[in-house]
Amino acid sequence: MQTKNFIGFPEQKLIAIFEELGEPGYRARQALTWVYHYGIKDFMEMTNLSKNLRTRLAERFHISLPKINKKDLSRDGTIKYLFELSDGKMIESVWMPSDSRRTLCVSSQVGCRLNCSFCMTATMGLQRNLEASEIVGQIMAVNEDLQEKDSISNIVLMGMGEPLDNYDALVDAVRIMISPEAMKISTRKVTVSTSGLVDKIKKFQEENLHVNLAISLNATENATRDVLIPINKKYPIEVLLECLRNYPLKPQRRLTFEYILLKGINDSQEDAERLVHLLKGIPCKINLIPFNPFAPSQYLPPSVETVANFQNYLIERNFTTFVRKNRGADIMGACGQLAASSQSQPVPA
Ligand code: SF4
Repeated sequence: MQTKNFIGFPEQKLIAIFEELGEPGYRARQALTWVYHYGIKDFMEMTNLSKNLRTRLAERFHISLPKINKKDLSRDGTIKYLFELSDGKMIESVWMPSDSRRTLCVSSQVGCRLNCSFCMTATMGLQRNLEASEIVGQIMAVNEDLQEKDSISNIVLMGMGEPLDNYDALVDAVRIMISPEAMKISTRKVTVSTSGLVDKIKKFQEENLHVNLAISLNATENATRDVLIPINKKYPIEVLLECLRNYPLKPQRRLTFEYILLKGINDSQEDAERLVHLLKGIPCKINLIPFNPFAPSQYLPPSVETVANFQNYLIERNFTTFVRKNRGADIMGACGQLAASSQSQPVPA
């Protein structure tokens, strides 16, 4: 019998398998704890399960993580991991330390089919979806590679791929991340980012996962957004924002809008004014991301002064607005620069 990867396997399905085997559900939770809390990769080491059960688990499951193929260390401490998957495909994850947190940017697909014009992953096209085991596996493999003091505190699903375009695996992976028996990461520390797949956002809110949602807005007019994020033709700005106005948020929680600033494209005073108008009344914070150039992209980042003016205008209108630091740009690990099989080079700052 071909075995399944225990990593990323949904808890409810696992409980059902244990019940089929005549075992109570709490035994499934014990097995999860061995794997996710103690890092055990051999069922025979799960000493509070009967020998017979351990043998039967080993007949059905294997426990394996994506292989780290290469690590690039940035001057700013960021580490970009290149992973090799079981079929030889490559993906990247980026670990970013700061004073208060250690964030891993996780990939959800090999490539992406949404073809955003500022994004290097788009140049790969979609090669395939990741399995839940491969999404969760990036986190576990990086944690194994790091010292305990550096272990990951926050997850952002903003790496290669559109997470909501790989819906089922994404939801299974997020459930494992936040389950107390599995990775037990706080829902406040997990962020799913989307380019704005309205149908999937509506479906996702029904899952009651209550993790953070970030939206790549990046433009204030449909004509511009159509070019930057072609899925805007299907879900234009007004449809997207209507959906987000109705998105259920727990008290004290906010949506995050990501806005990549591109020189001469979406960085004008009029854009800042339109952004205020569009987001009025939505509990949110705004992350401004000066574009991280890469060859052969034609886009450029705005000047520091333009970025500061844009930010100040939003802050003065009571929007919590951050300028996201350009992490790992020297190793092509910054936002929009991930493309595991590409030869493109960073453009010197
Ligand atoms: S920005 Fe995100 S959704 Fe758009 S092409 Fe890149 S990976 Fe895909």
